[in-house]
Amino acid sequence: MDLKFCLSFDVGGTFIKYAIIDSLGEIHLKDKVKTPGAPCKETIPNIMIEVFNSLKDKYQISCVGISTAGQVNVDKGVVEYAVDNLPEYSNTDFREKLGKTLNLPVFVDNDVNSAASGEMWIGNGKNLKNFLCVTLGTGVGGAIVINKEVYRGENFSGGEVGHFIIVPEGDKCNCGRKGCYERYASTSALIRMYKEALIENNLPCEENYEGEYIVDLYYKGDEIATKVYERFLDYVAYGLANLSHILDPGIILVGGGISAQGERFFNEVNKRFKKYAMTSHKENTVVKQAGLTNDAGVIGAAFNAFKFLNVL
Ligand SMILES: [Zn+2]
Repeated sequence: MDLKFCLSFDVGGTFIKYAIIDSLGEIHLKDKVKTPGAPCKETIPNIMIEVFNSLKDKYQISCVGISTAGQVNVDKGVVEYAVDNLPEYSNTDFREKLGKTLNLPVFVDNDVNSAASGEMWIGNGKNLKNFLCVTLGTGVGGAIVINKEVYRGENFSGGEVGHFIIVPEGDKCNCGRKGCYERYASTSALIRMYKEALIENNLPCEENYEGEYIVDLYYKGDEIATKVYERFLDYVAYGLANLSHILDPGIILVGGGISAQGERFFNEVNKRFKKYAMTSHKENTVVKQAGLTNDAGVIGAAFNAFKFLNVL
C-alpha cells in the first residue's frame, strides 16, 4: 500500500489545530492557528485553504479531514449547527467551500466522534469492537463505537451523553433544559459546586477557580473541597453506570479536563462505578483514560478521511 497523506484539522473555539498525518497514523507535522472571527462560515474554510497552500509543495496531500465543534451532517460534509463561540459557523459546507476549491475529498465529523475514531485507529480503543468515549471538559461530550463504527444516530445527534437528565429540575444547562449530566460531571460543574459550597459556608469565594486547584485541595484534606469533589466523582460514576446499563460497552474511555490527572482519578471513578453499576456491568466494565489526549481530533479526522477515500 502506498503511503498517503491527509491534511487534518481540529476546529475549536480558540484554535484550529492542523496536522499532516499519513495512512499509518504517523504525524509528520503539527501546528495551530488562532480561530478567526465572524463570519466563520467564510473565514474558517479560507484559513484552511491558506494552510493547504503553505504545505502542498512539501506533502502530496490526498484528502482533508476535519474534526469540529458543532453538529455535523457527515454525509454532506456540512456543519449544520454551531454555538456562538464560533460566530456564523452554522451551515458551513466544507465540501463546497474547501473540497471544490482544493479538488480533494473532504470528510467532516464532530470533535467527540473524531476523537473516538482516533482512539479506535491508534489509541486505547484499538482492537476493540465496542466502546464508549466520554469527554469531561467544560461540557460533557460522548461518542459510541459499535462494531468498530461510530454510531451517529438518525440525525447525526447520537452520543449526546452530556444531556441526559441526572437531576430533575436541577441546574440550568446551555441546552435550555435543567439538570443535564454535564451540569454535574464537567469541570465547570465541579467549579460551580465548589463556589456554591463556599458561599453556603460563609467562606470567601473568588470569581474564578481552576478544577485542578479544587482537586489539589481535596488531596490536601480540605473539608469543603472533599465534600464537593466526592459528590462530583459520584455524579461522574452515576452517569457512567447509567450509560453502561444501556450500552454495555465493556470499556469506557474518558478524556478531557479533570481526567488528565490519570490514575488517581480513574481509581476513584472505578471504585464508585463498581458501587453504582449492576453486577454484570461492574464485573465486566472498565473506565480507562483515553489514549491520544490533544491529538485525538486530528488523528480521528485523518482516519475518517482515509476511510472515506477507501485507503483504510
Ligand atoms: Zn443540557
